[in-house]
Amino acid sequence: MATRDRRQHQKRAQIDAFMPPEPPADRFRRIPVMLPYPFAGPFDYRVPRELDPKPGDIVLVPLNRREEVGVVWDGPADHSVGDNRLKSLASILDVPPMRADIRRLVDWIAAYTLTPPGAVLAMALRINALRPDSPALGWIAAPTPPTRLTEARARVLAALGDGHPRGSASLSEASGASVAIIRAMANAGLLLPAALPPQLAFGRPDPDHPGPVLAPDQAEAAAALRVATAARAFSVTLLDGVTGSGKTEVYMEAIAECLRQGRQALVLLPEIALSAQWLERFEARFGVTPAVWHSDLASRIRRLTWRAVAAGEVSVVVGARSALFLPFPDLGLVVVDEEHETAFKQEDGVVYHARDMAVVRARLCDASAILSSATPSLETVANVEAGRYRHLRLPSRHGGATLPEIALIDLRETPPERGQFLAPPLVEAIRVNLATGEQSMLFLNRRGYAPLTLCRACGHRMECPNCTAWLVEHRIRRQLQCHHCGHAEPIPPTCPQCAAEHSLTPIGPGVERITEEARALFPDARVLVMASDTLPGPDSAAEAARSISAREVDLIIGTQIVAKGWHFPHLTLVGVVDADLGLAGGDLRAAERTVQLLHQVAGRAGRAEAPGRVLLQTFSPEHPVMQALLHGSLTDFMAREAEQRRPGNWPPYGRLAALIVSADSAEAADILARDLGRTAPHGDGFLVLGPAPAPLTLLRGRHRRRLLLKTRREIAVQPLLREWLAKVTVRGGARVDVDVDPVSFL
Ligand code: ADP
Ligand code: ZN
Repeated sequence: MATRDRRQHQKRAQIDAFMPPEPPADRFRRIPVMLPYPFAGPFDYRVPRELDPKPGDIVLVPLNRREEVGVVWDGPADHSVGDNRLKSLASILDVPPMRADIRRLVDWIAAYTLTPPGAVLAMALRINALRPDSPALGWIAAPTPPTRLTEARARVLAALGDGHPRGSASLSEASGASVAIIRAMANAGLLLPAALPPQLAFGRPDPDHPGPVLAPDQAEAAAALRVATAARAFSVTLLDGVTGSGKTEVYMEAIAECLRQGRQALVLLPEIALSAQWLERFEARFGVTPAVWHSDLASRIRRLTWRAVAAGEVSVVVGARSALFLPFPDLGLVVVDEEHETAFKQEDGVVYHARDMAVVRARLCDASAILSSATPSLETVANVEAGRYRHLRLPSRHGGATLPEIALIDLRETPPERGQFLAPPLVEAIRVNLATGEQSMLFLNRRGYAPLTLCRACGHRMECPNCTAWLVEHRIRRQLQCHHCGHAEPIPPTCPQCAAEHSLTPIGPGVERITEEARALFPDARVLVMASDTLPGPDSAAEAARSISAREVDLIIGTQIVAKGWHFPHLTLVGVVDADLGLAGGDLRAAERTVQLLHQVAGRAGRAEAPGRVLLQTFSPEHPVMQALLHGSLTDFMAREAEQRRPGNWPPYGRLAALIVSADSAEAADILARDLGRTAPHGDGFLVLGPAPAPLTLLRGRHRRRLLLKTRREIAVQPLLREWLAKVTVRGGARVDVDVDPVSFL
């Protein structure tokens, strides 16, 4: 063969490798279709002559005698099903196709997390967004208002006061009245049905709407972010600034630049239910509120939002993890606010870290990514050190506000009174603050009244029947609850073990108990409890934030909810009831996380003119975590933390993947765990730890064992895991869940 011919031949062969084999002229085409189910990959379907599907098209295909929605996938068909058994594509839906960048994201997440791609597709597809609309009905108030109304009914009518129809769910959310009340009102003729508008109105954020004037260091950081966003190329920047330094205002300027570029922006928040203040600030900067995305949206709102994003009618979305899969036509910026938050790790279903996948998403669509935090994770810091991420710093609080002064209360020296949990110096500080009319906050990361209920007669502990966990007393609801599986039972009158009467005693505090103590100590203080069970939805959280800002509250008592980005200008004292709480358990990141959490909580104090104070109650004031908080030496602390992880190749200097074995019997769990132990990979640069009983040995009735694969950073865990898992047989009732880059070790 002549050289030229040979080259052409080679080239042809190269192309062939990427192309589906050409169908013989007289036969039919096959295409791969991905279905939103945990199958190992796409299935082949036959293409009827009249259809011409392209990768990304949303199609209907037969599956087990039903029609299912799927997506035409890329690459060649796999030909594992013979021509005679091949089923035909039914139709192509008239909806926007799934874009190539999202298909690549699905493939990427599936490969990285070892999840079947169809399971990832299910998150990305939002099938309900594809169904045709039925005209939706809502309610308006009947023209003649009744004279006497219950309070709930009056609230319903008030929520309809602007004359716009509202759906039942939104009306219930706005008024706090149940859907049953709304239905009863409709039956009584107090509400009349009315068509809801077919579209949500999404305002156009205006990048040139006047925003705040940035201070010089803010302006410098904003300029760097604008340049990165205008480059229309992939980059990641860590925006690292102390609490109250104006990170949010600064990254808003990157959003403005993204809008000027005609591209869309996505902001991920760790707790979208707590975003009221954020939404207000967005509106102040851009003149309108952005679209909001989370899993609790009413399905109609979700459908309209999804479509408006696909159609390019929405240019900014603020959302929870799942917003990563929205079909932006031209995503130019992804912001991950509070990037250190573990809430970004999804632990159920597809186990993925939204912060890391946000970076992947940005790379796949040539967008810039911003990771913002006052307490960046070691993972992100390591990426900065390795030169993969850029680094911007905002070293001081905005407007001359100073960082709060931190002091430790040694509980061994100044213990609380017997049966109490607030030590005298903390009580005194709150008293002084109350007297001067300033706001205080008590932080305890524990819901309910008491974490443990114990029989004083026989020592019996009240445990969950389904989990290795104590039952938490919720006194307001008169229940013992499991915070892992949701099991709840009434507090028994006698000990279930020894039948002693009045012997069950609450041990240790939760926020309810601290509230009881605070009410007794400060009877005149207006107290607000902030916990996920007292502020169940976005509206109640927004109302709490409003009442705090309006100084209708003197003392806030809360769980980790209070640590999240709030700006309460009149709050000047923060008391941490149990600063040692997060250090127990010996998790790899326990110290890192405790520092981050307590620093964030402390960061709520003194955000305006009046300086803030933080008091940490601890039994171990000499602990490096307490010392770091006391001296404000976070960077040094994190550097030392990093040095401890480096030699053993612990993350971020090495990689981890966990295998969680679970089964309905302890024997089945042990057998599978032993099989995995026996077939564990051996080699240079990696190591398998376990099997060992999981700390939550029993969870939701399933027996659990864990193994941990640890590798050097340059070794990918996925091929090792794939090979390893292929060696064991998983019998009925047992399963292995893979958690790549685990955050929780329970
Ligand atoms: P961070 O996100 O770093 O904690 P924020 O962006 O929440 O800080 O800013 C803290 C407070 O200061 C907010 O109320 C914000 O509106 C205000 N702020 C920050 N920068 C400016 C500025 N340049 N002009 C006016 N107010 C600002
Ligand atoms: Zn349980």
